[in-house]
Amino acid sequence: MKLYRFRSGSVCKLFVGGLHGDEGLYTAPVLEILAGEAETASDADIIIVPAITTGAPYTGVLSEAYYHTREGMILTGLIKRYKPRFYFELHAYSEKSYSRLTSAGREEIEGVPPFVDLGKHVLIGSIAPVLRNKLFSTGDFCLTIELPNWKSTAEEVLQILRLGLLCRTKRELLTQLRMMYPESLERAEKLFHQYYRSIAPEPF
Ligand SMILES: [Zn+2]
Repeated sequence: MKLYRFRSGSVCKLFVGGLHGDEGLYTAPVLEILAGEAETASDADIIIVPAITTGAPYTGVLSEAYYHTREGMILTGLIKRYKPRFYFELHAYSEKSYSRLTSAGREEIEGVPPFVDLGKHVLIGSIAPVLRNKLFSTGDFCLTIELPNWKSTAEEVLQILRLGLLCRTKRELLTQLRMMYPESLERAEKLFHQYYRSIAPEPF
């Protein structure tokens, strides 16, 4: 597993991709580009893992079981060790999963809100509640990005990740995202607030 670290500040930002199955084949090229830009782009402690795996059995990150797999233990080990205040988790999905991931009924079926399409099939949403609740504080910024595995959306995804590199605070990052994707962010924030009714003052 490849890990890049660029350390020019104390606040840690963790970018990780390829959590299960073969999705790392799709997340790695994007995160490799980000790694090429990260050294000069930020004054934080940047950790980039392009793919935890590129070929492991698929265990969904919403299940407790995932955190007992080799990949899940690597992931939680990274979070415990580096204690990121900004956390970006990249996945890749197939065209046939689009409706399941974005369905209004996802909360009823899978227990979590649907992903929101930013356009061009790049999806954003909250990270797994089991991870969020155990290893992060409410003030941390945590975002899942699902990129389509049947077409290239590297530029769209990099636009978001670059904001993650540059922004110094969660508030600044959210402001930038709202400006870039006003409608999608409004929808994503509404879904987030409905889900985390009382515990989170700000989304993601
Ligand atoms: Zn995934």
